[in-house]
Amino acid sequence: MTEIKTNLNHIKETIAQSCLSVDRNPADVELMLVTKTVPVERIAQTCELGHRLFGENRIQEVAKKWREPVLHGIKPEFIGHLQTNKIKNCLDLCGRIHSMDRLGLVEALDGELQRRGECREIFLQVNTSEEDSKYGVPWQDAVQFAKVVSRYQTLKVTGLMTLAVFSKEEVRVRQCFKKLRELLTMIRNEGVFSENFRQLSMGMSSDYHIAIQEGATLVRIGTAVYGERNTSDSYYWPEHHK
Ligand SMILES: *Cc1c(COP(=O)(O)O)cnc(C)c1O
Repeated sequence: MTEIKTNLNHIKETIAQSCLSVDRNPADVELMLVTKTVPVERIAQTCELGHRLFGENRIQEVAKKWREPVLHGIKPEFIGHLQTNKIKNCLDLCGRIHSMDRLGLVEALDGELQRRGECREIFLQVNTSEEDSKYGVPWQDAVQFAKVVSRYQTLKVTGLMTLAVFSKEEVRVRQCFKKLRELLTMIRNEGVFSENFRQLSMGMSSDYHIAIQEGATLVRIGTAVYGERNTSDSYYWPEHHK
């Protein structure tokens, strides 16, 4: 318990410092705890500390873990690659979906939401790093993709999501976040979404301080809270390279 608490305090401190460095209000940055591979007991420890915003990558794992009573009926948000045959389960088990990255998925999600008479808050995932190993709409196509998605009334698009390049070169990482922020502005200027379209879901354990300086409104953090994962990330991402 103390280890997780210490980690959380450190992260909150870093968020505050990063905000301070660019004159932002720390209250404008949401902290999502990413719990892929994390056992229920450890997730429960962060619940006890008052956390309610969690992210998961695989529907099978959500189904297995998140029905446990110690997790208080919280629905995690979905940040992984979503297969169309998992849409129903995703809608049942998760909250916001951060990884809308292709038209086929948009159509299938809209179809299911129409059948249910529901809406869902989503983020569009953009590939800002130009790496083939990343999911997301190529950044060059993002404005056009947003215009198309805006025609689907069941999808409440409130922001953009990205994974930066995995690199020790800060400039290259920062470039990805800058790109996402520029796209948010460009899409806002198109006026196709509501005023609620203003979120930037970007920044992970290794780079959230940079993401916040570039305007992140939501950072997704796993390792820095719960420690290193045993399962390789290639289980969650295609050909993930270090
Ligand atoms: C795993 C994951 C994270 C968190 O990564 P850490 O490096 O453990 O902080 C954030 N976003 C997505 C989409 C992930 O899959």
